[in-house]
Amino acid sequence: MITGKNYIGNELSASGNKTFKTFNPQLNIENSEVFYEANQDEVNRAAQMASRAFETYRDFSGIKKASFLRSIASEIEALGKELILMYCAESGLPEGRGLGERGRTIGQLHSFAGLLEKGDWVDAVIDTAIPDRIPVPKEDIRRMNRAIGPVVVFGASNFPLAFSTAGGDTASALAAGCTVIVKSHPMHAGTSEMVASAIVKAAKKTGMPDGVLSHVNSNGYEVGQSLVSHPLIKAVGFTGSYAGGKALYDLAAKRKEPIPVFAEMGSVNPVVILPSALKNKIDFWAKAYANSITLGAGQFCTNPGLLLTVESEHLDDFCSKLAHHLSEIQATCMLHPAIEGKFSKDKDALLKEDSIDQIYQADHQIKANFARQTLATVRGKDFLKNTNLHHEVFGPFSLVVRCENDKELAAILKVLEGQLTGTILADEEDLSSNRQMISLLSDKVGRIIFNSVPTGVEVCHAMVHGGPFPASTDSRFTSVGTSAIQRWVRPVCYQNWPDRLLPDELKNENPLGIYRIINNGLTSDKI
Ligand code: NAP
Repeated sequence: MITGKNYIGNELSASGNKTFKTFNPQLNIENSEVFYEANQDEVNRAAQMASRAFETYRDFSGIKKASFLRSIASEIEALGKELILMYCAESGLPEGRGLGERGRTIGQLHSFAGLLEKGDWVDAVIDTAIPDRIPVPKEDIRRMNRAIGPVVVFGASNFPLAFSTAGGDTASALAAGCTVIVKSHPMHAGTSEMVASAIVKAAKKTGMPDGVLSHVNSNGYEVGQSLVSHPLIKAVGFTGSYAGGKALYDLAAKRKEPIPVFAEMGSVNPVVILPSALKNKIDFWAKAYANSITLGAGQFCTNPGLLLTVESEHLDDFCSKLAHHLSEIQATCMLHPAIEGKFSKDKDALLKEDSIDQIYQADHQIKANFARQTLATVRGKDFLKNTNLHHEVFGPFSLVVRCENDKELAAILKVLEGQLTGTILADEEDLSSNRQMISLLSDKVGRIIFNSVPTGVEVCHAMVHGGPFPASTDSRFTSVGTSAIQRWVRPVCYQNWPDRLLPDELKNENPLGIYRIINNGLTSDKI
């Protein structure tokens, strides 16, 4: 049952007097549940509890933290069909997507649990003492990663499960040993409360300190801003718009003690289509990209928003085939009227630009909150002149940029901002004779893809979901995959420390049996 209240630690709380409701975009009506925004007192209590809980939680063994994560996964599963019904009612997304996202959320929790059980992730490095070194003796120095402190996670509108309450940011932060305050996304506060209740249940069952997780609601910027400004908070995870991510980043930088904000803010995900791809697999790529552009109503941060290519005899055919496949795809419901409104506004503004030609726009009758998939085109030289065309249109939209030659395409790659992904479609011969293009694209992206589509981000150890600014605020880190844990730690060095008082990861005996770098060599040996 939805209470609409905040979880301040394990307790439900509704001290504030501001309320809001979520919206069912498929039915175009408000949902019935009422949610209470957290007030300043609740924000303070959540931060204090997170800080107190951190003092014990950070030192729990990897095995104990892993049992917590695995228990969260079981409790989410135990929410059963009710969770999926709430997910669909608050997002307009279909049941199949809800089931898939739940599977991904559970999978993420298990993969971080596996990482903790192995234990190597702490990156233990040991340089043993050299007492007789001349001219001065060298002391014993050991280093490992430790949790950064209590963190705030903002739920993402476009992934109510996998990038929200128990999503990648929360799972990786809890795995690192951080306590977490989730700021639920106001579009799916009910889904978020259900998942928070699963985390609280798991925390109680596995003996976690009260305050390891709090969950606060709001439908305005105040709560998020006061969390980010709170002196007890040490880092922030965010997925959403550039405006939101940059505002929170700036706020955190202006604090008396600045803290890192890991914001993933999306991109246009350029796809470079070399002539060989159009010559050999024109229909294959047209169909694959029609599906990719419209997947999830285009509401993916990896949506292919920019198709860059050089004029060729096959280009018109490709555009008409892509338009044809787009026309065969049913229009889909967007997450919320506000998101659909922004999509329509951004798309229409772009289509009004002088240099733009519309290739296709779904013109059949569509229901409220559904998106018209759209394809447009522009000449390379006009694209270069007009930076309005370089920005993300969040929804099922893509722009084909027709360059006069390779030089113009390279010039575009040089001026593009940082991106989450970049893709090259070509045959291998064509690819190997375009090394400069590969280098230019690699400089701009977190993930470079060959002959595939950028949508569909695999959760695995090697994944990078991040990229140079403004795709994310810190291109050195990923928000998907097990490396995401590295955002929530800092290295701590122990100099000349008695063995028995070192963390287990650094003890001579290596009681956890983990891999460590000892005197410059990787080993799981004891010292
Ligand atoms: P958003 O506006 O960035 O909001 C995300 C979260 O951040 C919300 O909880 C919001 O709080 C909070 N927030 C935003 N600006 C803030 C500020 N200045 N101070 C404090 N908190 C702030 O994103 P959204 O609501 O998910 O969707 C709006 C647009 O974002 C979409 O149309 C799309 O363009 C973009 N978006 C992009 C991606 C991507 O991956 N590229 C993903 C999702 C959304 P409140 O809502 O409680 O005020």
